[in-house]
Amino acid sequence: MIQTAAMMAEQRVHESLWDGAMTRLVKIGTGTLATTGKCLDRCFPSGPVIVIADSNTYQAAGQAIDQHLRQYGREVLEPYVFEDNDLYAEYRFVERLQKFLAGTDATPVAVGSGTINDLTKLASHLCGRPYMVVGTAASMDGYTAFGASITRDGYKQTMSCPAPLAVVLDLDIIAQAPREMNAAGYADLIAKIPAGADWLLAEAAGVEPVERESWKLVQDNLREWVGDPTGIRRADRTALAGLVEGLVMTGLGMQRANSSRPASGADHQFSHLWDMQHHTHQGATPMHGCKVAIGTLASTAMHEQVLASNIQHLSTEENSIRTHWPEWEIIEQAIRNDFPDASLAEQVLQQSRDKYLKASELVQRLQRLKAGWPELCVRLRDQLIPASTIQEMLAQAGAPNMPEEIGISRQRLQKSYKQAQWIRSRYTVLDFILEAGWWTPCIDNLFKPGSFWGKKQESGSHG
Ligand SMILES: [Zn+2]
Repeated sequence: MIQTAAMMAEQRVHESLWDGAMTRLVKIGTGTLATTGKCLDRCFPSGPVIVIADSNTYQAAGQAIDQHLRQYGREVLEPYVFEDNDLYAEYRFVERLQKFLAGTDATPVAVGSGTINDLTKLASHLCGRPYMVVGTAASMDGYTAFGASITRDGYKQTMSCPAPLAVVLDLDIIAQAPREMNAAGYADLIAKIPAGADWLLAEAAGVEPVERESWKLVQDNLREWVGDPTGIRRADRTALAGLVEGLVMTGLGMQRANSSRPASGADHQFSHLWDMQHHTHQGATPMHGCKVAIGTLASTAMHEQVLASNIQHLSTEENSIRTHWPEWEIIEQAIRNDFPDASLAEQVLQQSRDKYLKASELVQRLQRLKAGWPELCVRLRDQLIPASTIQEMLAQAGAPNMPEEIGISRQRLQKSYKQAQWIRSRYTVLDFILEAGWWTPCIDNLFKPGSFWGKKQESGSHG
């Protein structure tokens, strides 16, 4: 069963690679670690190689890969292992690795998940060298993605750099990863449900058309990939094969679109916001997927508000739009109030300014949305899974499903809706309800007693 699931996952990924894709080879299966040498030969036929890891991932797989490659007969330099306790995807670590790599001519073999992959991806690129990665957890969708998510000067940003040439994902290793890491990856994957809905909305609004090839990579099998949350929790290899396939395909979707749009909408904006605010919970920064889990619920619940609203109440008259639509100066002041750090405020202002339309310009957009409404609602209903169901699925996978689990109060979550809308120029459901003049009633509906965020539910079965 597992062999079939893994073979199918690998096969589907293989078939979806296109001419011109940076990533040329993806191995998914049990025991694939032992194929690393062969993969290297195919993508990097000559020259020395070096394992890049941190102390955990070195234990989990780095050491085994180093030995395997030596036995395989490749020239292998001494591994580069980050011993830092505070290691994260921060630019100073990129610089350190870049400096080290520049003194060698070795092909980097990153062994790890989000952090090690991002650090190696960018450092290799800065050295003008392609790299390969051996994943140790199914914790995020960045393995095959274009760009690295790196914090520089306190601001997390996606830095432009190519995806790896080869990716090896061994389900035996991934099954050994801390459970919360694979649960976080599950949340990062299920986020593609509301992210897809945001893209449909952006297309209907005339802002950003859906790019069919990238859409297909991410969306065509999404429900199958997220269909066994308890399997993820049990580290069932068949369920993990689906999760890994989904994360790899999403990365390829981003690589293909040269944008994170296929993988990220309002769901991720909540996570980015909390990153910008340097949010910590119990002394640590929650994992990306844990924040995205709550962002996914926040976004999906808002989509449900949109679908429950009466389109007849959408005014497309300029004078009527003016009654709820602020002038830019009002927004600018509100942003400056909420982001006291001046340089952060500038970055947020730039994103918001990029998408700001005057009331007169909104007329056309809203008319277009109103005209296409019946068709759009059908597409959105097909796309979405009820927020309460996603909440259950997250709980079953062992991912956070209540904001308090990552240290976000309801009050802060409510505030985060508006701030999440500000921080990225990407058009999402948050822009739609704001532009439609539905903001206050939708937020009130979401947070009133007994509603989705008004309930103090038991925190599922997460633990
Ligand atoms: Zn993500």
